[in-house]
Amino acid sequence: MDCLFCKIVAGQIPARKIYEDDQVIAFHDIGPQAPVHFLVIPKRHIATLNDLGEDDRPLAGHILFTAQRLARELGCEEGFRVAMNCNELGGQTVYHIHMHVLGQRQMHWPPG
Ligand code: AMP
Ligand code: ZN
Repeated sequence: MDCLFCKIVAGQIPARKIYEDDQVIAFHDIGPQAPVHFLVIPKRHIATLNDLGEDDRPLAGHILFTAQRLARELGCEEGFRVAMNCNELGGQTVYHIHMHVLGQRQMHWPPG
């Protein structure tokens, strides 16, 4: 297995875990870009957003609602940003899909 996030799922690489269930885990980003910056990922390996299938609709919804709930629990209810980068042009560096959740600082648009 050479996927970094699959290794985190398997417990082979440590992570500051926030939440885990049978489908997803959430953990703090190692290079935080905001006072709160965590990632929500599926446990199953899916390389990019382009690889999400129709059957993954419930999983995609679960990732989004997990992000929403954890953002609230971590004190970001006033405002936060979610982002998913797809492929090199989209700024993706780890090829196992993940939803970034950033909060507790002013965000700007466009993100650059
Ligand atoms: P992306 O550029 O969207 O693929 O984001 C990958 C994110 O994973 C970056 O924000 C990294 O800081 C983060 N990251 C990389 N390695 C680790 C790790 N071992 N634990 C937690 N976050 C990581
Ligand atoms: Zn993976």
